[in-house]
Amino acid sequence: MTAVISPVSGQPIADVPASSLEQVDEAIERAHAAFASWRAIAPGDRARLLRRFSQVIDDHVEELAQLEVANAGHTIGNARWEAGNVRDVLAYYSGSPERLFGRQIPVAGGVDMTFQEPIGVVGVIVPWNFPMPIAGWGFAPALAAGCTVVLKPAEVTPLTALRIGELALEAGIPEGVLTVVPGKGSVVGERFVTHPLVRKIVFTGSTEVGERIMAGCAAQIKRVTLELGGKSANIVFADADLERAAATAPYGVFDNAGQDCCARSRILVERSAFDRFMALLEPAVAGVRVEDPSLDTAEMGPLITAAHRETVAAYVPDGAPVAFRGTCPDGPGFWYPPTVLAPVAESDAAYREEIFGPVVVVLPFEDEADAIRMANDSDYGLSGSIWTRDLGRGLRVARGVEAGNLSVNSHSSVRYWTPFGGFKRSGLGRELGPDAPEAFTETKNVFIATD
Ligand code: NAP
Ligand code: MG
Repeated sequence: MTAVISPVSGQPIADVPASSLEQVDEAIERAHAAFASWRAIAPGDRARLLRRFSQVIDDHVEELAQLEVANAGHTIGNARWEAGNVRDVLAYYSGSPERLFGRQIPVAGGVDMTFQEPIGVVGVIVPWNFPMPIAGWGFAPALAAGCTVVLKPAEVTPLTALRIGELALEAGIPEGVLTVVPGKGSVVGERFVTHPLVRKIVFTGSTEVGERIMAGCAAQIKRVTLELGGKSANIVFADADLERAAATAPYGVFDNAGQDCCARSRILVERSAFDRFMALLEPAVAGVRVEDPSLDTAEMGPLITAAHRETVAAYVPDGAPVAFRGTCPDGPGFWYPPTVLAPVAESDAAYREEIFGPVVVVLPFEDEADAIRMANDSDYGLSGSIWTRDLGRGLRVARGVEAGNLSVNSHSSVRYWTPFGGFKRSGLGRELGPDAPEAFTETKNVFIATD
């Protein structure tokens, strides 16, 4: 048993079993057995089951949201959105089973056609920062494509995934089609990688573990999708609506206490607007409401664990160039205030490394080319924002930044009906969007002679 600790109170709130290797193997074998019948279900019937699953999630949005507030310290507003996202992603991909089209390709002497065949058992490995959405982005398109899924939540945030597994059964999804396997990455996650019956891994987490998983998958040429870290730039040009850019910048990085792979954790500001931007940013940061995440007014909650708070705090040692910071509650819970560092050098760890907490650096740039150079001077390439009134420039810079998800005059990056994923060390492959189910299939070509 592993105790689940609330990041809000620092107290245990549940005990969850840590699966043994034997239990993982059993779950994978059950998923493999269920694959034969799940893939054979008529497309319209599989679609209906996914719609029912979506409906049952909708009936439990509030319960799931409350569970996430308790387990992960997410604000209740965010947690409701996250549970609703699982519902919506299921509803979206419930339209896929009848639309997994092959092609008919002209050939001499017969007919040639392609089929999208489901891969088999998919292992989904989920981190603690967005337990519900990241699980759904993996399992919903996989189930729609006819695959069965074993899902490992992060050890510290298993509660919503376990509940979603129960709700799947309640919705009529057959036993073995979606199995939640709680436990350690070094046991459950590793076994997903090494077990030959798992035909694809969908991993979201750190770049370090992602590298190890990709290497493990290589041994079996196992398919793998990786969603890893980020150090995304928020690029503010002098011609932008500076008031809006400054008012929204804190939410582009401090949402979910900065524990977001898409966090815009490097704010780059055109030098001529730097002082004005900083003057506008200070009250915006002070205004971020860091408080009990169960309050409707909360905009930011605590960090996930005491250990993670120490990791984050290490980027702000005594004497660090803190330009200004917001407030956070005292007392129990793993609180850390929104923190703005400036000036910093491009060689500083706070500028280069993913902090995964509410710490942002602000640096000036000289011109458009310099902004693109700085944004791309990173091992990562997940997301980014560009603020300018010149839409031609907005588009040029968006095309110039080596990242998978850019937004102009906005910090939005994840919509379930558009593709999501990273360049460079931020990942491999894409999730979400109209093509996601195909990533859970193999293309098969069949030729039938007519002569
Ligand atoms: P992590 O340590 O990489 O863990 C992610 C998941 O992998 C957890 O379920 C973990 O299990 C499991 N795991 C650990 N070692 C494993 C192994 N050897 N084999 C298989 N699975 C293993 O990351 P984290 O600390 O949970 O999350 C923070 C990181 O995730 C950040 O770097 C962040 O940028 C990244 N992230 C990226 C995205 C994205 O979409 N690009 C989204 C969210 C997070 P345990 O429960 O035992 O830890
Ligand atoms: Mg970890």
